[in-house]
Amino acid sequence: MKKIYLLVSILIVGIAISACQTKTVKNKYKSVIMSSNEIIDDLVKSIGGNFIETSIAMRKGNDPHSYNATEKDVIRITDSSLIIYNGGNLEGRLEWVLSKIGNITPAVSIIDCLPKDKLIYDKEKNNNKKSVNPHFWHDPMLWKTAAHFIADNLAPMNIVNQQIYFQNEEVFLYILDRLNNYIKEQVQKIPKEKRIIVTEHDAFAYFGRAYGFETYYLQGSSTSSEISSADINDLADVLIEKNVTTLFLEATLPDKNIRLLQSTLKAKGHFVKIGGTLYSDTLGYNNNYEAMMRHNIDTIVNALSSK
Ligand SMILES: [Zn+2]
Repeated sequence: MKKIYLLVSILIVGIAISACQTKTVKNKYKSVIMSSNEIIDDLVKSIGGNFIETSIAMRKGNDPHSYNATEKDVIRITDSSLIIYNGGNLEGRLEWVLSKIGNITPAVSIIDCLPKDKLIYDKEKNNNKKSVNPHFWHDPMLWKTAAHFIADNLAPMNIVNQQIYFQNEEVFLYILDRLNNYIKEQVQKIPKEKRIIVTEHDAFAYFGRAYGFETYYLQGSSTSSEISSADINDLADVLIEKNVTTLFLEATLPDKNIRLLQSTLKAKGHFVKIGGTLYSDTLGYNNNYEAMMRHNIDTIVNALSSK
């Protein structure tokens, strides 16, 4: 923590000086829009098209909750013209780093633009503090707000192209409506009593609310809490009561805890299968947001509609 803080302090001084001396070079670098993760980057590219240069703060496929900015990342952040991040404590230590960088690079949080009554909050263990669940992109109708937010942020940066950004937004909104209809149709293939998603962390709360699934998980909307054998045991009892027969893995997390849950259930005489891997916090091998969402619903339908 101290190291990054020191680096940030040095950068603030260094960049303030170099800004006066190398303005032309700095401007060249300052055309980059940096997204915190690949899901936001995909949205920025959908709106900005070929008219913007983009980069991503965190490595593709990594768990965003455990993100810690490297020295290189801090330099890349300060070389960008705008940072777009999810917020709601999704991105590990990123918000802390941004607070230390201050005004060098403007940073905007998408979750801050969402209506508060659309957000889902979870109670943190061992205290009464409520924290927002950041995984709102799993509801395509909320991702529409994000698309509009991106277009609004890109528009003032390039007056010539801003009409194109808003046209791209219209196209993307159509894609989201099409996706929403597809998911609704697919959900109908699953018997109502089987519409239950069990994963390691609470990443599908928005998806569940939008499409009528109950969701169960071993840890909350972050992945930083310790999972005890009592947590696994308690969840196993709930799943037996609900007659759950399927668990899902998540692409950004090891399968250890879900396998433990599976063996705990087995020890209690209740057999569950692994229904596949869901992309909760990454696009994975999918080309874009729509493909990732389709992968998830197809995997869920395949697992929950089979006998
Ligand atoms: Zn997550």
